Amino acid sequence: MPLTKKNIILKGVAASPGIAIGKVFMLEDDDYSLIQKEIPKNARAAELKRLNDAIEKTRAELKTTYNKINNVLGENYAKIADVHMMILDDPIMNKDVVKMLEDGVNAEYAVFKVLDRIIRSFDAIEDEYFRERKQDIQDVAKKILGNLLGKTKRTLSELGEESIVVSHDLTPADTVAIREKFVKAFATDIGGKTSHTAIVAQSLEIPAVVGLRNISANSQSGESIIIDGNQGLVILNPTDETITNYKRELDIQAAKRKELDKLRDLPAETVDKHTVQLLANIDNPDEVKSVMNNGASGIGLYRSEFMFFNRDTMPSEEDHYQNYVKAAKMMMPYSVIIRTIDLGGDKLTNLGFLSMEKEMNPFMGLRAIRLCLRYPEIFIDQLRGVLRASAEGKIRLMYPMISGLEELREANKILEKVKKSMRSENIKFDEDMEVGAMVEVPSASVIADVLAKEVDFISIGTNDLIQYTLAVDRVNENVAHLYEPSHPAILRLIKKIIDAGHDAGIEVGMCGEMAGDPYYTTLLLGMGLDEFSVSPVQLPKIKKVIRSVSFEEAKKAASEILKCGDRESIARIMKKLKFKERY
Ligand code: PEP
Ligand code: MG
Repeated sequence: MPLTKKNIILKGVAASPGIAIGKVFMLEDDDYSLIQKEIPKNARAAELKRLNDAIEKTRAELKTTYNKINNVLGENYAKIADVHMMILDDPIMNKDVVKMLEDGVNAEYAVFKVLDRIIRSFDAIEDEYFRERKQDIQDVAKKILGNLLGKTKRTLSELGEESIVVSHDLTPADTVAIREKFVKAFATDIGGKTSHTAIVAQSLEIPAVVGLRNISANSQSGESIIIDGNQGLVILNPTDETITNYKRELDIQAAKRKELDKLRDLPAETVDKHTVQLLANIDNPDEVKSVMNNGASGIGLYRSEFMFFNRDTMPSEEDHYQNYVKAAKMMMPYSVIIRTIDLGGDKLTNLGFLSMEKEMNPFMGLRAIRLCLRYPEIFIDQLRGVLRASAEGKIRLMYPMISGLEELREANKILEKVKKSMRSENIKFDEDMEVGAMVEVPSASVIADVLAKEVDFISIGTNDLIQYTLAVDRVNENVAHLYEPSHPAILRLIKKIIDAGHDAGIEVGMCGEMAGDPYYTTLLLGMGLDEFSVSPVQLPKIKKVIRSVSFEEAKKAASEILKCGDRESIARIMKKLKFKERY
């Protein structure tokens, strides 16, 4: 039930900084709360026809989905649509629904009732795999009901004025659409600080709070809302006094921002002249302008998988090329690190042409480099696009989710084959293009010394390194309190990776969100990190901290902190050294 009370404060995860005051736009419209109606005898045949039409429409949609997936990725991936078609054809389901219609029940209610009964019976199944198949039945139920009611999810294309989007979750496609729409901020029930939704909000420089658990059930379109992305708070139906206070806070922030802007053209160097590279993370070439405005000296992570969202077909070699060359040319004379696609995890849902079989543990499943090695045709198109762009700008290539040397070598083998074929076609590319690996899987960090000998650079992906090392799902709000960048195990791993890179004579960067949190800047600097790649909006704050400390002081702090065995002692030292007061 939406809340009518004033000033309801909800606490979630601060996903993207800033404050927004506005009106709610509810993205979800999955409310199929259905009413039972009595259909008169003479209208029952027409009601049956309406049901059959909706089922046929659903079947046609599923067939299209199946074919699209099958053509691109093969049968294994298309299975999910196949399972949905089998549910649609299930004789028991059909018999029971038709029986209810014959008894005068309206089609929506009959479908809802029968499928709801089947879904409930799944709860009693002990085998977790089968129990979870109820999601498939729910999906089919929603599809049929959607066609019966002519309802689809309310989309962002309906957004006509600046609003604050509230939703249970946002798919990658939604988050890409946000870029094109009048979205001032957003709030979601689920998600953590490093979920793709949070990352996109940062890259768009709009405030966001995620992991609010029940905001979507408590809000309704049109009501007033404040998003406080700094503290992870959402205020529903704020009082006039709260609005005035937040407006004042907005002014303070604007003044702070003006101060930070003055640092834009200054180097990222400490008071004793130790210089590091301050780079930016992007997921779209259109962000390059904001990257320049914030004073980055290159792109340290281009999340290329975002090109796969909000489109009907697989990106072609030409699409890849066009995107990369645009970013690379705009960034000249600086370099752009293009990460090969990292689809999977929380970044692979609802792509019409590429739908994975539902995995029990998508973050540990067929993700990133694993997907590319399984489907080399997708990988090859991307590599050709990257290589072509490398002839016209400074491009470095990076593989995500490398877990061992074999994967790195296999990826490089494909890269070499692509280069060979391009040479024979007389297509120009940068023969010296650097190739690096992300270290974000614990196994890779343990063998960082070995990997470092076979790559040109390393970039630490803390978003995943933390989740895999601490066994804390990065998008699960229930364990968000355990997702701790300054856990001693994480800090020791980071130090080990940096040292391994330096021993092999290569530079080590970090492109996870930890690099963009100014609270950790002094520590990372002291550990010897060479490159910080952060969301553009965070760049000035990081630069401010770097320019406020001496490298010697940072090294001392890091060595003291690395001796600690628990989070509390670490927090105590960071408090004593006033890490929070530096930005
Ligand atoms: C990371 O894991 O730290 C990272 C930068 O990659 P992503 O957030 O895209 O998984
Ligand atoms: Mg990652």
